[in-house]
Amino acid sequence: MLHIGCHLSSAKGYLAMGKDAVKINADTFAFFTRNPRGGKAKDIDHEDVQSFLTYAAEHHFTKLVAHAPYTMNICATKENIRTFAHEILTDDLQRMEATPGNYYNFHPGSHVGQGSQQGIEMIATELNRVLRPTQTTTVLLETMAGKGTEVGRSFEELQDIIKRVELQDKLGICLDTCHIWDSGYDIVNDLDGVLADFDNIIGLHRLKAIHLNDSLNPCGSCKDRHACIGEGCIGLEALTKVINHPQLQELPFILETPNDLDGYAREISLLRKSSSSCASG
Ligand code: FE
Ligand code: FE
Ligand code: ZN
Repeated sequence: MLHIGCHLSSAKGYLAMGKDAVKINADTFAFFTRNPRGGKAKDIDHEDVQSFLTYAAEHHFTKLVAHAPYTMNICATKENIRTFAHEILTDDLQRMEATPGNYYNFHPGSHVGQGSQQGIEMIATELNRVLRPTQTTTVLLETMAGKGTEVGRSFEELQDIIKRVELQDKLGICLDTCHIWDSGYDIVNDLDGVLADFDNIIGLHRLKAIHLNDSLNPCGSCKDRHACIGEGCIGLEALTKVINHPQLQELPFILETPNDLDGYAREISLLRKSSSSCASG
């Protein structure tokens, strides 16, 4: 069965997100661990978390894909920005352990002119500082569109980070279809070739989650503007091949399309109908 969900608002807590997910026929979801622009996170409400965990087990949820604030930049030039990023990362990883065994996805960072090599070193150094052998959370590096000075625009850059990290079993990749398309991977005409590249350079065993988005722009545009499923340059046919690909179909798929909850419900229903794996599970 297709595992699919979308970004949900964490404002009303974990159980409320779980119920929203079930309402739209999702069995996973993503949420920002705090205001996407950063700032202080709400204290974990352990009663809410316990109710959510029971609810999620009853409804056969698969792994959640939490998202770090997108302003968190661990390879910034300014030390205060890096310190802030370190504090967020440390706090988030601790909070993630309240819901054990899930995914925490983050944008590797923007090197802001220092060069991607320097960015890669700084990201790996920070990961070696915060990852713990005892953590149950897997930290996912997101594939980036290559906007501005983003690090992680190619499989090579992501692997360059991973190979410098000691606790590699705590690391994985979240592949964003809009981002890799924008950074130049042609998943419309050559999905198999792109996945073979991924496997050769990083290894498909590291691929843990998919952000399923259409793109407003052509392949290689480096823009990062998400479109609704079937309304962009990637299109429904290619995205259907992504969800049905034998090497991907067990992964959690997260929609980050410009939608409200009703729009997400429609996309989930459309994709479940386009899914070749039957809903017997
Ligand atoms: Fe993201
Ligand atoms: Fe994404
Ligand atoms: Zn994006």
